[in-house]
Amino acid sequence: MNLEQTLAPALAQRQAEHLYRRRRVLETAQGPRVVADGKTFSAFCSNDYLGLANHPQVIAAFKRAADSYGVGSGASHLIAGHGREHHQLEEQLAAFTGRERALLFSSGYLANLGVIKALLGRGDAVYEDRLNHASLLDAGLLSGARFQRFRHNDTGNLQRRLEAGTAQRKLVVVDGVFSMDGDIAPLDRLAALARRHRAWLMVDDAHGFGCLGENGGGCAQHFGLDQRQLPVLVGTLGKAFGTCGAFVAGSEALIETLIQYARTYIYTTALPPAVAAASRVSLQLLMTEHWRRQRLAALIARFRRGAAQLGLQLGDSVTPIQPLILGDARRTLAVAAFLQQRGVLVGAIRPPTVPAHSARLRITFSAGHLDDDVDRLLALLGDALSRYP
Ligand SMILES: *Cc1c(COP(=O)(O)O)cnc(C)c1O
Repeated sequence: MNLEQTLAPALAQRQAEHLYRRRRVLETAQGPRVVADGKTFSAFCSNDYLGLANHPQVIAAFKRAADSYGVGSGASHLIAGHGREHHQLEEQLAAFTGRERALLFSSGYLANLGVIKALLGRGDAVYEDRLNHASLLDAGLLSGARFQRFRHNDTGNLQRRLEAGTAQRKLVVVDGVFSMDGDIAPLDRLAALARRHRAWLMVDDAHGFGCLGENGGGCAQHFGLDQRQLPVLVGTLGKAFGTCGAFVAGSEALIETLIQYARTYIYTTALPPAVAAASRVSLQLLMTEHWRRQRLAALIARFRRGAAQLGLQLGDSVTPIQPLILGDARRTLAVAAFLQQRGVLVGAIRPPTVPAHSARLRITFSAGHLDDDVDRLLALLGDALSRYP
């Protein structure tokens, strides 16, 4: 059989199971209103929680840096691609997170792969929440360490596994805010447990930075965990920061180990310097413009109040990620299509991104949404769910 004939059955099966994925073509910047495939929508599906992806100051910094440094970084960090903008952003991220140092990666996926593989190998053990982001699960599997998944946010289940473990190096890995559920990991208890069992705690806080903590310092700030309690802290720049890339924050020894050994750091081109420059400005806005977090909290509260009045069963989330679990993939698609026909975009998330029978609408909020946007979403959701019971 040729390539195409070989691939066809799996594609057909995905379609039959209502799990086939399609991309929309976005024609505008990210924001509460977007144009996609020629139509205008009210959008509740981006991770641009603070509305910084299209912020004039962030754009201006990007343009200025492009004028000075050009577009491509031209090389990996270790060869010749590590520029002044990257370096200053790292120093600012270290100060922001209260860690000794921070290291930029070209994406969150690469950061997670690089860190876990640099820290663990055969004979070691990695313990992951079963709802962790795919990049963390992939990294754990690829690391060669003994890979164990514990029940979601279940510290008792993790404790039993840690007690049974004999590995030299033990790494406990969780999302700070779970990307498809919006709930927060019990990091205070996880940090204490890790300490008792001489395990290291790694948190991927892609969705916590900017949204949680007094200055947007994310879960680490929310729980008040310092570098000793939470030694491996990962953040991404593609969500609330509104740019792209990622960083790891921690001790001098951790960062030097990553520079020496993390293959996804060493063997990839550095981010464009203009992305680093734009991220420096978005970091300032994220830390200082508290009204964005307050606005987000008000929108989330409004949505949850309205949803309760409609009798919708939302997940247990205080973050901008609000899942409405419908279970069935076909129903989830039908409800999302109903909303789309009426000018509202939400994420329709199906297996294998989420566990079987837990297909859901993933509704996300941004500081740029209006109260009216939320009310209209709620009215349409009420309508859609009675139509597709
Ligand atoms: C988005 C995300 C990533 C990946 O980050 P990218 O920079 O998009 O590669 C990693 N972890 C979590 C929890 C995420 O939500």
